Amino acid sequence: MKHFAIVASLVCVLTAPVLAEDLGRFVDGELSGLVSTYKGIHAHPELSHHEEMTAALLATELRKAGFTVTERVGKYPDGTQAYGVVAILENGPGPRLLIRTDMDALPIVEETGVSYASHVKSKNAAGQEVGVMHACGHDVHVTTMIGTARALVSSRAKWHGTVMLIGQPSEETVDGAKAMLTDHLYERFGTPNLAIALHDTNSRAAGTVAIASGPALAGVTSVDVTLRGIGGHGAQPQNGKDPIVMAGEFIVQVQTIVSRQENPRDPSVVTIGDIHGGTKRNVIPYEVKLELTTRAFSDKAMQIILDGIKHTAQGVALSAGVPEDRQPIVTILDNESGPATYNDPALTTRVKAALVNDLGAQNVFDEDPIMASEDFGLFGLEGRIPSVMFWLGAMDPLKLAAAQAAGKSLPGPHTSLFEPVPEPTLRTGVTAMTSVAIALLQQ
Ligand SMILES: [Zn+2]
Ligand SMILES: [Zn+2]
Repeated sequence: MKHFAIVASLVCVLTAPVLAEDLGRFVDGELSGLVSTYKGIHAHPELSHHEEMTAALLATELRKAGFTVTERVGKYPDGTQAYGVVAILENGPGPRLLIRTDMDALPIVEETGVSYASHVKSKNAAGQEVGVMHACGHDVHVTTMIGTARALVSSRAKWHGTVMLIGQPSEETVDGAKAMLTDHLYERFGTPNLAIALHDTNSRAAGTVAIASGPALAGVTSVDVTLRGIGGHGAQPQNGKDPIVMAGEFIVQVQTIVSRQENPRDPSVVTIGDIHGGTKRNVIPYEVKLELTTRAFSDKAMQIILDGIKHTAQGVALSAGVPEDRQPIVTILDNESGPATYNDPALTTRVKAALVNDLGAQNVFDEDPIMASEDFGLFGLEGRIPSVMFWLGAMDPLKLAAAQAAGKSLPGPHTSLFEPVPEPTLRTGVTAMTSVAIALLQQ
């Protein structure tokens, strides 16, 4: 009996789990394959709403790993189908853990010069030809999920419960998480008890991670403003109402919402990223269109911004003497807006402990909240499902150290030069996400 017990425990040790000390070895074995998968995804980026190939690749890999996969989960408000992927692995009773990756790229011409750079061109929603680039590192996230899926299957003796992997489309347009939830994600696949995700960052070296407790990313509201005037000859401004001059006043005035109307202790941002008006130097146009993004953590700060934008537009039009029927049009785009991302403090503590355990305390940093936004928080159903997003360092450590020594930062997400270093970013991503998942999937 004693002999049998020894044999049984030996078998248990041998078949088991990728133990903590073995996880590194497992990830090492997967790494070269994952790096080439990453380079392939990087070279073939797809814009939001168009992640067909990326979603198919993710689905295929998760199926091969042993997950039950459903594709094309998600419905947009216009009725079109989204390329959401849901992959389930049940492993006995225990918590149900959602792990999310996003999949979409950005309309940016890549200028990193890496051998696997994207040369893809596509049409944006307005029908214009644009370059396409994984300039936010969602290719890192997809590849990390593939590696994590394999590691979790290999280590299934170490955890209990259900893993629910989500390949989310359209993060950059802030409507992908919404589309999946609208398509009855939780009714069809079960409601998770916990939700986690990671995002790469240019402010940390590859090999490290960082985590914020509480508010992590700001909420975003997208706003369109059309300043309408009365067009005419450029030499006879007295006969028109010049919307280009109004736009100039609006652009400057709108910044005083944050600096003069907001509580400085409740941070907010107003940025005008796009402006269009006019066709020729000597023609006063009839209107100028501006696209704004606004960020805030609290509902109060966000409301002050939105009221301030309306008042500023109306005030500028009033001072220009614009007639009643040509007042500005201010449109809030609900589909491109989302709430702040809040990292549940108790779950953050557990996630951080797992990260410290497998990466070492010297590689795990506390992070401040940032003004960038995410729609991952929507999976948490307004706090009902504790959720955490942590940061994955993605920069070449030597380049980052040199930049920091010179008082500079390396090009960040949403720029043409954003360049995550594949290794050790992927090694750390897979190790971190697997460690966290195993730590949370305990009874
Ligand atoms: Zn982004
Ligand atoms: Zn992103």
